[in-house]
Amino acid sequence: MNSQAPVESAPVARSARPAAVVLRTATATWYQDGPAEPLVRIPHTSSAPCAAVPACGRPRAVLFDRDGTLVEDVPHNTDPGRIRPRPSAREALAALRAAGVPAGVVSNQPDVGRGLLRLTQLDALHARMEALVGPLAVTAVCPHRPQDGCGCRKPEPGLVFAACRVLGVRPPETAVVGDIAADLGAAHRAGATGVLVPNTATRAAETRAAPRTAAHLAAAVRALVGAPARPGGPT
Ligand SMILES: [Zn+2]
Repeated sequence: MNSQAPVESAPVARSARPAAVVLRTATATWYQDGPAEPLVRIPHTSSAPCAAVPACGRPRAVLFDRDGTLVEDVPHNTDPGRIRPRPSAREALAALRAAGVPAGVVSNQPDVGRGLLRLTQLDALHARMEALVGPLAVTAVCPHRPQDGCGCRKPEPGLVFAACRVLGVRPPETAVVGDIAADLGAAHRAGATGVLVPNTATRAAETRAAPRTAAHLAAAVRALVGAPARPGGPT
């Protein structure tokens, strides 16, 4: 596959959703254009802010890894009741909403490809996560197993590309926040800005190699988009 980031400067159409609906639930619609493509979840309530005019190098969208970044990593979890937000996740998403910057998720979920996690279960997990941390404009999931050689399993860039297409932003205008090297690899290969928020599972070498790090999610967002604008202050 072509792992080069698209560098053309032509405007990207807004809401370039994949064409094929694979599941519609009470909370969201899932799309997948083919077995080798990512799964894309768009909430029915999605009110993705129109991607703001980039200001002072601000990203126009921020994409988060899920397990170990937005929520605690619970291996092979199928139970929405076990979803626990990571520290300051809610605050980070609120700061992005205040700044008019859409937030999304990019997540490897190989248990889907292994037959251990059904799409309806995955949707329930994501609906619960949104209820806890706040709304997300788009979620792009790699359902493939590591040995499938797809183009979307991080550190491949396909999830970043898919989320950017839906949001109508270009990867170089986007930041990816994660807790391991694969997240930053996907960011790098897509041409996006990568930010590492280490947790206890993050290896020291990954932290040393990261181009940018932040102590927690709210700090990462503050560094990316700045403090919320004050009434009457500069925008
Ligand atoms: Zn994949």
